[in-house]
Amino acid sequence: MPRPVVSLIIPVFNEEHAIENLYDRIIQVVASVTLAPLEHIAPEFIFVDDGSTDRSPEILSRLATRDPNVRVITFTRNFGKEMATTAGIIAASGDACLVMDADFEHPPEYIPSFLDHWRSGAKIVVGVRENKNERPFFTRFSSWIFYSLMARIADRSGEFVPNATDFRLLDRAVVLEFKKFTEHDRMTRGLIDWLGFPTVYVPFINPGRKIGKATYAGKKRWSLAMDTFAAYSLFPLKIAGYLGMGITVFSGLLGIFIFATQYLFHRWSLDFTGTAQLAVLNMFLIGIVLSCLGFIALYIGQIHHEVANRPLYVIKQKINFETEKEEY
Ligand code: UDP
Ligand code: MG
Repeated sequence: MPRPVVSLIIPVFNEEHAIENLYDRIIQVVASVTLAPLEHIAPEFIFVDDGSTDRSPEILSRLATRDPNVRVITFTRNFGKEMATTAGIIAASGDACLVMDADFEHPPEYIPSFLDHWRSGAKIVVGVRENKNERPFFTRFSSWIFYSLMARIADRSGEFVPNATDFRLLDRAVVLEFKKFTEHDRMTRGLIDWLGFPTVYVPFINPGRKIGKATYAGKKRWSLAMDTFAAYSLFPLKIAGYLGMGITVFSGLLGIFIFATQYLFHRWSLDFTGTAQLAVLNMFLIGIVLSCLGFIALYIGQIHHEVANRPLYVIKQKINFETEKEEY
C-alpha cells in the first residue's frame, strides 16, 4: 500500500535564515510519525517563494536539488501570503495538505497531532493559538476588535473562531473544493471555513518568530481585514443605510421643531441662529454621505478586482514539479 503523501505548504518571503532549519526540523518530526497500519508518511514540501529579495530562492533551489520531495514555486514578485498559500494548495498532490508559516510560529512538533486528527476522520484541522497574550498589545487589540466584529456581523456567523490561524491541515476533498474558488481578494482561512467541512481545532503554543522579522504586519493586515469585512458581510453597506435613515428622521424632526418654535409658537423661541443650525446639520450630513461613499467604494473595489479577472499570481519558475504548466 502506498504511503499517504502529506504536502507541507510553506509560503516564504525573505526567510533565508529560517528555511533550512525548518526543513530539518520537519524531517525529524515526520520521521517519528507512524500512521499504523501504514508506514511513515511521505512528506512533500511545497515552498512558495513570494518574491523574496534575499537569498531565499537560492536556498530553496539548493534544497530542491538535494531532496526531490522539495518542490519550489517562485513568484515573479511579491503577491502576498494569501496568494502564496493558494498557489501551494493548488500545486499540492498530497492526500492531505498542511499549511504552515516558515518562521517557526507554527511549530512542526504539532504536525503529528494534526495527522492524528486527520486519520480519525477530520477533513480540516485548524491550529488555534493559545498564548495570545505574548503578542504586542496593538496586534492583540486589533485582532480582538476584528474577530468580535466579524463574529457579530458576518453573514454566515459561527465561522470566525478567535485565534484560529493559517496553521491548518486540509484533506484532499477540501483541496479539490478549494480549487474552485476564483476570488481575488481572498483570505484563505475564511474561504476554507466557508466550505463547511467538519473541522477539528487543535490548540498550540506559538513560540514567536525567532528568526528574521514579520513582514505580514501593519498595512497588509489592515487591508486583509477590510477586504474580509467586505467579502463576508454586507453590514457596512447596511450601516450606511441605517445611518442615512436615522439622519433623515433626525433632521426632519429638527426641522419641524425649528419651524414650530420660530413660526408657530413665538414665545418658545430659542436663540439658535438659523445659519448656525444649518451649518452644523450640513456638516453632519456631508460626513454621512462621505462615509457611505467610503463603504460603497469597498464593494466597488472588490467588484473591480473580480471583473478585471487577472491571474491570481504569476509563477516565474517551478522546481521538481511534473508539469511546468499551471493547473488552474
Ligand atoms: N509571507 C509571504 N508573503 C508576504 C508576507 C509573508 O509569503 O508578503 C510569509 C512569511 O514568509 C511567513 C508567513 O507568510 O512564512 C507569515 O508571515 P509573517 O511571519 O511575516 O506574518 P505573521 O506571523 O505576523 O502573520
Ligand atoms: Mg510570523
